[in-house]
Amino acid sequence: MLNYETVIGLEVHMQINTKSKVFCECSTQFGAEPNTNICVICTSQPGTIPILNKKAVEAIIKTGLALNSTINKRSIFARKQYFYPDIAKNYQITQSEPPLCSGGKLAITVDGEEKIINITRIHLEEDAGKLVHEIGSRKLDYSLLDLNRASVGLMELVTEPELNSPEEALKFLTELKNIVEYLGTSECSMEEGKMRCDVNVSIRPVNRKELGTRVEIKNMNSMSGVRDAIAYEIERQKEVLDAGGKLVQETRLWKPEEGVTKSMRLKEGTLDYRYFPEPDLVPFDLSDSFIEELRRQIPELPKIRRARFIKDYCLSEYDADYLTSRKMIADYYEKALNASKYKKMAVKPLANWISTELGAKLNSSKICIAESPISGQNLAKLVSLILNGTISGKIAKIVFEEMYANSSDPETIVKERGFTQISDESVIIKLCEEVIVANPKAVAEFKSGKERAIDAIVGLVMRKSGGQANPRLVNKILVEKLKSQNE
Ligand code: ADP
Ligand code: MG
Ligand code: ZN
Repeated sequence: MLNYETVIGLEVHMQINTKSKVFCECSTQFGAEPNTNICVICTSQPGTIPILNKKAVEAIIKTGLALNSTINKRSIFARKQYFYPDIAKNYQITQSEPPLCSGGKLAITVDGEEKIINITRIHLEEDAGKLVHEIGSRKLDYSLLDLNRASVGLMELVTEPELNSPEEALKFLTELKNIVEYLGTSECSMEEGKMRCDVNVSIRPVNRKELGTRVEIKNMNSMSGVRDAIAYEIERQKEVLDAGGKLVQETRLWKPEEGVTKSMRLKEGTLDYRYFPEPDLVPFDLSDSFIEELRRQIPELPKIRRARFIKDYCLSEYDADYLTSRKMIADYYEKALNASKYKKMAVKPLANWISTELGAKLNSSKICIAESPISGQNLAKLVSLILNGTISGKIAKIVFEEMYANSSDPETIVKERGFTQISDESVIIKLCEEVIVANPKAVAEFKSGKERAIDAIVGLVMRKSGGQANPRLVNKILVEKLKSQNE
């Protein structure tokens, strides 16, 4: 059996984040009642004329600039002929040559090293409507057509065949999603179908130059689906080749329930879509100043924000990676940090609370940090309460639980529940004396030179105080007491 290398190229469709559709004024709102956001243009009535949404063009150019694409100043739209049951005019308005953006690069990290994936093109096109085959759980024996999505603007990004594993494909999609979220040019939510991708997979014997025959898996709409479909396809292709068979270029569909891909249609060479220039949208030229203005609007992107977090806040690479992995996490972090009374001291504890406690909670309640019941300001208050010695780390966890459950203010919780940390020396001295008397064994161990025995004694005092004693004071007082007894 031969050793094979996997080759993957992606075609990613992202719904452009504009209020109205790309060729008419209908709303792009997701989840509206079927066929309520439609008009004569997006239902393809004969004689109607599409009007280009300038914001959609801007979104694609911004995305291209952020990915180092070349912006083609001459813009031409094309008709792609096909039988589309969900586009009544039976052609899709798209771009062929030139696309708005040519080339481009996106870096992913593989085994700690940066790998550059080349982008072939990014172009503008219209989405199709949706065929509905079930209502609730009831399967229909006919198809319903919902045109709300018809003519919503899409940007299609095509990569070179340069990804070499399911993990790399996932890294690419995750990083792309992150950059696009930073730009705000698409919401990229796969659950709402706002980001979908066609995955092209082939394998070839290691060291062979020519690419193998590719299979295209259409319309993937989840990250785990992309990963599993590629993994399945690699194995299937290996089996065919190892058995002496030949692969055919075809389009397949991923069946998540069965965990397999199934052939949908054979695709010999390229289908002839008979592209021709769209006569209803005249070609136009983009000016340099228009493009430069868009370049100025590009916000700080993840890589730069990550570097800034490391430089300005002295965060570790690990923390900076995590915090900038989604724009909403980085925004939350900076909001919390800016609200903190102890900015410098709060840098690391805030990062920790967000990546561990809060992250785990949000995960298990399946909500994103932008919807967190604990606001950034309140998390900053909680950390301040620890930093200024009002509560111990242990009590903070109890307060945190309550904050998460009720969106409440940590200062109020601490006051109402009487959680304030005990820093009154006379109270702590008394607690320490009681614990020393009651635990002669641990005390003897400490006195015999086992310095670590102090931790156990501190723990006993802390427990006795219901977790409310200031642990640093307890430690200090205990050491003083025990040492003075020794002398
Ligand atoms: P089409 O529009 O017919 O799908 P494209 O030429 O636009 O064809 O290619 C689509 C995608 O397929 C690109 O992402 C490209 O990188 C990828 N691709 C092309 N050849 C291969 C191959 N042999 N193996 C894997 N991916 C490939
Ligand atoms: Mg394709
Ligand atoms: Zn419309």
